[in-house]
Amino acid sequence: FGFKGCQKIRGAQIRGLLEAKDFFLFDCDGVIWHGENAITGAAKVVNALIRSGKNVVFVTNNSTRPRENYVNKFTRLGFTDVMLDQIFSSSYCSALYLRDVVKVRGQVFVIGCEGLRMELLEAGIPCVEETDDPDATIYNCALAPDVKAVLVGHDDKLTFLKLAKASCYLRDPECLFLATDNDPWHPLSGGRILPGSGSLTAALEVASGRKATVIGKPSRFMFECISSQFKGVDPAQCLMVGDRLETDMLFGSNCGLDTMLTLTGVSQIEEAQEYRNSDLTTNHSYVPDYVVDTIADFLPAFED
Ligand code: PLP
Ligand code: CA
Repeated sequence: FGFKGCQKIRGAQIRGLLEAKDFFLFDCDGVIWHGENAITGAAKVVNALIRSGKNVVFVTNNSTRPRENYVNKFTRLGFTDVMLDQIFSSSYCSALYLRDVVKVRGQVFVIGCEGLRMELLEAGIPCVEETDDPDATIYNCALAPDVKAVLVGHDDKLTFLKLAKASCYLRDPECLFLATDNDPWHPLSGGRILPGSGSLTAALEVASGRKATVIGKPSRFMFECISSQFKGVDPAQCLMVGDRLETDMLFGSNCGLDTMLTLTGVSQIEEAQEYRNSDLTTNHSYVPDYVVDTIADFLPAFED
């Protein structure tokens, strides 16, 4: 394997790559936008790719919103041609997993935001109601008798009571333990960070002595969702574009896709080179095939 990968490409090389591929998977935060701000040039690139007849999908580990919200966000930020069926979020894929893979019978106990619950309800999956009783504690609260899965996502209203209830449900070996994603943290502006749902899942893994099944990137399941909705997608024709080595590049490697790192997000090229130069071959799965500064570098490929 040696020193393959991490190839910084520009100009004609980008044009060649865009011509060679017909299916583009974009991570969202760090590639397409930073929070509420589109990355300069990203909308033009995505619009141009879609208009040139390429397949474009978005794969995001952000479980906090239902897919409809992403369609609205894309429109608001100037991505004029993005439709619902192009959006694969960890919340949507979690709902598909519960409905189609495990065919869950019974309720799901959700640690997560309202958007995650909405995706599950839309897929017909019943969720345990949240209590708003301020006096409820793990000593006096009721536990639902028919909880067949605990699903952990990003939760900005996490309480000790929710963690305690989830730990109790996970005592039952028949109760599945799922996580929307395993992201450790997310960057905010000004050098602050948010703990990711991986950190909440880790707490429950310790409390339960169990390991969660991860739905989002880097797990292959999101690509299986894409393959089942876009018939005939050939991994060799795909390019996965992301900003985080441990989620996006590993996801691409796990699914047999060519990968591209953009330097507008979490990971730096030096980290990618470190993985590439490592003697440990498992580290090579984090190495992108290609590197660009920003997806705005695609723009000249659409100008004659
Ligand atoms: N989950 C949450 C709660 C986030 O805020 C973010 C990024 O802002 C993500 C996940 C990662 O999203 P993506 O996979 O699009 O980078
Ligand atoms: Ca990202």
